[in-house]
Amino acid sequence: MSTLRSIALFGSFLLGSGCGTSAPPQTFDACVAPPKLTAPNPMYVWTPNAIRLASQRLGERVYAVYDSNAASHSKAGVPLATSGGFVVGDNGVLLVESMINRQLFCQMIALVRAETEKPITHVINTSSHGDHSFGNAFLPAGVHIVQHQRTAAYIAEHFQEDVAFMKMNFGADQGLDELHPVAADTLVSDQTPFVVDLGGVEVTARYYGFGQTGGDLFVHVPAQKVLWTGNSLVAAQPAVPWLLAGHAQEVSTTLAQVRASLPADTVVVPGHDHPTGAHGFDFSVNYLNTLLSEVGAAKGRGLSVEQTVAAVSMPSFQGYKIWDWIHKAVNVPGTYAELAR
Ligand SMILES: [Zn+2]
Repeated sequence: MSTLRSIALFGSFLLGSGCGTSAPPQTFDACVAPPKLTAPNPMYVWTPNAIRLASQRLGERVYAVYDSNAASHSKAGVPLATSGGFVVGDNGVLLVESMINRQLFCQMIALVRAETEKPITHVINTSSHGDHSFGNAFLPAGVHIVQHQRTAAYIAEHFQEDVAFMKMNFGADQGLDELHPVAADTLVSDQTPFVVDLGGVEVTARYYGFGQTGGDLFVHVPAQKVLWTGNSLVAAQPAVPWLLAGHAQEVSTTLAQVRASLPADTVVVPGHDHPTGAHGFDFSVNYLNTLLSEVGAAKGRGLSVEQTVAAVSMPSFQGYKIWDWIHKAVNVPGTYAELAR
């Protein structure tokens, strides 16, 4: 695909990003050293330092950034690294997500610099999860960070817990010890979206309801019909939602509501996948509704949680490589506990 770009990564060029005007160039001191890529470690869900990111132009001024393995891994149900993107306005660049560690943050910055010398002025984190927000630690001063107010509160109170969770699933050798929390500059409420005009292009970040964390934002460029979902929609079929904080019914309602609000030809960038269409929501919504129905029925028959995990096998939804963890160990027991209340 001609619009797909992945680049050789040499950190030194990131130092000089001036445009020849009077404004001093924006520098990324965190990205001076060349990245150290490693081989994937099969013990991890995905290995941050083995990931190569690619960018794809989705429309005028709008780019997705995602795992360069997406074309082969997505359909096969192999978990992919965090997706994000950027929007280029006349006045500056807005990043969607800042990635999990220095290496991936710096790849993202390099992909921006491959398209524009304009300064990065905003970052929106779609949730508190570190793979979407840890890279904030590497931003230069003056970049405006936007989060939902519950995301900001969670990061302030639980940062080290999230680092521990990420180290457990993505490795203790992936550079997560050098991180620190960064306070957001703008907090988005449930009722009032964030709206910014970057100069010739408007971006919004809106809360639609519980998605995965209770502070999930959907980032939209209405004029180009591009939507980032964060982890609320982790990936297209055969991936299923990670209900790490439960709330299956609310997640289903949120996803269906967002889907219904979109023009049919919207390009959707899931939290961990390459771009798909609005139909990309349907498998996750159907999965959640079937999960709720079957777990409820099993409970109605008086089954224990272990018996319910065995009974709710949902064969037509299988195919995700981490099904045994997400479905059997997280989603079914969590939903059983919630329905039992
Ligand atoms: Zn994520």
